[in-house]
This record gives sequence, structure tokens and C-alpha cells, in this order.
Amino acid sequence: MCGIVGYCGPKPASDILLEGLKRLEYRGYDSAGICVGKGEDFQIIKKKGKIKDLREAVPVNLAGTFGIGHTRWATHGEVNDVNSHPHTNDTGEVAVVHNGIIENYNTLKNKLISEGHKFQTDTDTEVIAHLIAKMYHGNLEQAVREALYLLKGTYGLAVMHKKEPGKIVGARNGSPLVLGVGDGEMFLASDVMAMMAHTKDAVYLEDGELVSMTKDSYTMFDLDARHIEKEVEKITWELEQLEKGGYRTFMEKEINEQSQSIKRAFQGRLDLDGATAHLGGLNMSAKQLLNVQRVEVVAAGTSYYAGMVGAYLLERLARIPAHAELSSEVRYKNPIVEPSTLYFVVSQSGETADTLYAMRELQRKGATVLGVCNAVGATIPRESDGGVYIHSGPEIAVASTKAFTSQISVFYLFALLIARMRHFSFEEGYGFIRELDRIPALVGQVLQRAEKVKEIALRYAHHQNFLFLGRGMLYPVALEGALKLKEISYIHAEGYSAAEIKHGPIALINEETPSVFLVPDDGLRDKVITSIKEVKARGGKVIAVAVDGDEEINDIVDEIIRVPKTIDLFYPFLMVVPLQLFAFYAAEELGRDVDQPRNLAKSVTVE
Ligand code: GLU
Repeated sequence: MCGIVGYCGPKPASDILLEGLKRLEYRGYDSAGICVGKGEDFQIIKKKGKIKDLREAVPVNLAGTFGIGHTRWATHGEVNDVNSHPHTNDTGEVAVVHNGIIENYNTLKNKLISEGHKFQTDTDTEVIAHLIAKMYHGNLEQAVREALYLLKGTYGLAVMHKKEPGKIVGARNGSPLVLGVGDGEMFLASDVMAMMAHTKDAVYLEDGELVSMTKDSYTMFDLDARHIEKEVEKITWELEQLEKGGYRTFMEKEINEQSQSIKRAFQGRLDLDGATAHLGGLNMSAKQLLNVQRVEVVAAGTSYYAGMVGAYLLERLARIPAHAELSSEVRYKNPIVEPSTLYFVVSQSGETADTLYAMRELQRKGATVLGVCNAVGATIPRESDGGVYIHSGPEIAVASTKAFTSQISVFYLFALLIARMRHFSFEEGYGFIRELDRIPALVGQVLQRAEKVKEIALRYAHHQNFLFLGRGMLYPVALEGALKLKEISYIHAEGYSAAEIKHGPIALINEETPSVFLVPDDGLRDKVITSIKEVKARGGKVIAVAVDGDEEINDIVDEIIRVPKTIDLFYPFLMVVPLQLFAFYAAEELGRDVDQPRNLAKSVTVE
């Protein structure tokens, strides 16, 4: 969601800011702007729409070697040029970009207006510029601190003042901010992707921390002006991972990377000698793990469905009661935290606001919380008690694909670890690992069958409604399939347990509402076949995702997408991929912006 870039250095700032904003485009936004400083001269250009619209509006050779840029995901005030960031005070001396929400902006705004300040926009952000101007008496760091004391809400901020050219002050509270340390240049961004082309040295700000940077130096301090020493961390992602690598869209690339990304999630974590998994970052002793009586997975969106797969797996394999819950609900339901319950929070970005706040609520009540995240150094991995990185590499398409399969990979490893500590024999652990090890190759085989999925998707893309149905561990996969289709094609789709349709959704069935059934290869198969027949009996079209060799369904369904055979526990990997492909091809057929679907943001940093 929304992005910030800042630069101080020797190069033309507008190029660096625009390039940085372009790298943040994937997060979703509705307008963008920059402020470039040349001495005391500030040029602000801002536009509703895409970065390319902004780029066209920026004069070529715009002079100035420091500046701030922003992509806005509007929360307060219409999406238009004026409400786009940067925002200034009346005199234009202070320029501010802001991610987040200022909750008490109305009170502050009324007070400032009564003092004679004139407002130009409908945003909450503009009060920040006026407040800093009001507090400014020759020291920008101090003015920002004093202004922040009055603000309630969340912010990632970058501020410039005409009286202090060449300097940017940043601050963080609830919205990420990271400093990039270059050679004779400094960067500030809400996401390392905006600066990776220039430096791999990053310093992550925590809530309540501020940074002041010029091209040659930086200092970090807190709201009480106490100096803070922080470690410089290396960004591990490679620049090429941010490119499309020959694909037309990031989503297609990321779907096709899954064989590799799943392999990376397993790498170094399978212990053949012990027939178990080795997960370094849990920060829990064997004894503590043995004392776990229950597991709760807390997440939102696709990560929640991955968590549901994880919960099913933990119950089946590890025989631990496990359950997944929506983070937005956990946070406000006054959760009952029992000391013997272990919590997982799952978030690709590690910044998802609902999940982060749920984690803090759980920790407040004494919970041990492990993070399952992708972005190294993000807030959840830093604040959780331990965790496991999924190592899927940057996921840029807004709709998550490879992160899902990597998230479930981590749960397979964790379930194996716990199962081996309890009731699994060496043989059982070994057999499990042997099959798990085949998964990347089997996913590769599923991907090679993409043409068949495409052909079906193109034929069905013009339907208005779909049902996605599965049971057991394939139930969350059905939910994920429906979500994917909704997100990127805007086709209405509902996911249900196949058994549930007769309790209501079957009323929707007619020729116009196709059902996508995930047909398992286990004890539930016959039950699913019964549900398929119920749909067929009412004139519904059925697309089945079924296992090689299941010939009986040939005569029952309208379309079949085949996946290779594995053991029943592992079908979530193989059956989610065709659903991702189905959504992708349907969306392309309908001419949608697959990587940046409407209204959605990649990392949802507001509640
Ligand atoms: N609340 C601010 C606005 O609506 C910032 C939104 C954002 O985070 O992009 O302008």
C-alpha cells in the first residue's frame, strides 16, 4: 500500500524518485507525486493516476539533487491531483509525504485554521505540514518531533524544509520506513525495493524512531531527541528478482517460479538423518515445543487460507488441535491466550496491519507468537518471538501466488518437526520427506500443463459467477481459488466446503454458474463425487481438478484439469496452482490489469 521514497545525493533526484516510485507501483496506489529541491527552490509535481502520468508531467532535466516522492492510496479526501502528496504548509516551506492515517486531524485542522492557517486539500496529511511549519524555529528535527507529539494515528513520513536544503527527516509509527546507506548518497523508503538498485545497506526504523539524513550522513533518534545507534543490515534480494524476466506480467512469472520457490522454502531445512525438519528461527527449545498443546494461526486473505491448510495439516499429521483465525477478528475479540497455545502469524509482507496488531494484542496477553513472513526485516519478523522466513523472493503481483505455496511449505516442515517429536517414527518421517522432496518437481509438471487450464479458462471467462468447492485440506484451497479469481478478474466467485453446498449455495446452481471441484484422492473422494452429481443434476457445469488416473470422473464432469499423483496430504500444492492459472488466464481474457487489480494494495498497512 502507498509508498515513500526519499533521496539526498549528487544525482538528479527526480530520476531516482520516479524510478523508486515505479518499483513501489506493485503495492497499489491511486496517485503519485514528487518534491525536488534545488537549494531553497522546491518543485512539486503531483498527479492522479499512474507513475507514467507523473513522469510525463515532470519537466525533463528538472534540476535538484534531493527530494521526496509518494504513491498515495487515498484514505482521506478524493483521489485527485490536489490531494496527492507531497503536501505543504501555506508558505510552501515545508513539504511532506505520508503513509498512514492521522486520526485526530480534524481537531488539529480546526485549531490551525483558527490560528490563521489556510488549507488546500481534504487530506489528513496536510495538518502535518502546517504543524511542522508552526513548530519550526530553525531546527527541522525538533520541529518534526514537536509536531509528532500532537499526532494520533499511524505514519511513515518524509519531510523537507526550504531553510535546510539537502536534508530529509523521516519518522515512523505503524507504517514502515527504511534508510538506505549509499556512498555519498542516502535513500529513504517505505520498502527496500525502492532503493535496491542503488544500495544493499539498509537501516530499518522502528515505531517511535526518526532519522535525519543528508547525502553524506544520517542520524537516528527518538521522540525525546535521544540518539539511537542502529545496525546496518544487508538486503538479500537481487535486483533481477524485481524484473519480469521475459514474462508479460509479474503474476505469470511468480506462478511459474513456484517449483523453485517451494524448493527454497525447504532448502537446508530437511534433516534426512533425523527424518525431521530443522527450523532455525523458532527460538524455542525442544521442551517448549513439546509443551505446545494447541496451535492458532492468525492471518488475513491468502495468508489466512495458507494458515487454514497449515491447521488441517497440524491436526492430521502432528495430532495437535489447530485452528486458523482472521487477524482482524482476533484483535478485537479479546482473545483468550493460554500459555500452552502457540501462535503463528502469517503475512507475506510482514507489515499487514490487521495481522501485526493482532500479534501485538496476543503478545500483550502473554502469547508466544511465531511469524511466517517473506520480507526480511519487516515489522512482524522483528517483533515476533521467532519465526520462519518463507524465502520466496520478492512477490510483486498484488495477488499472491508463490507466497501461498511457500507459506504452506513452512507449515509442512513445522508439522513434520512436531510429528517427529511426538508420535511419528523415523520411517514415517522419512517417507514424508521423500514425498515432500518430490513436490517442487510435481509442481513443475502441473505448470507444464498450463495450456489445458488456459483453454478452459478462456471458454469460461465470460461467466459472471463461479463456485469453488473442496473438502478437507482442499477446502481452504477452494477458498483461495475463489479469492484469486475475484481479485484479478473481478468475476464473482465463492469458495465452500463441497459438503456445504446443499446447505444453501446449491440454490445458485444453473447453467450460468460453473462449479470448480477439487477432487481428492482419499476417503473424501466419493463424497465429493456425490456433491458433483448434485450439481450436475441441477444443470450446473462442472470443472474438476482431479488426479491422473481417476478415470471415473471423465463421464461425470464437463472439464478436467489433471494433476500428477502424490500422497493425499500434498494435494494443496498441486491443486492450488491450476486455480492460480485459471484466474490468471480468465483475467487476461477479460483485459484486466493482472498485476495491479483495481482497489487492491499489495501490503495492506491500514486497518
Ligand atoms: N491518509 C493519507 C491520505 O489519504 C495517506 C494515505 C496513504 O497512506 O497513501 O492522503
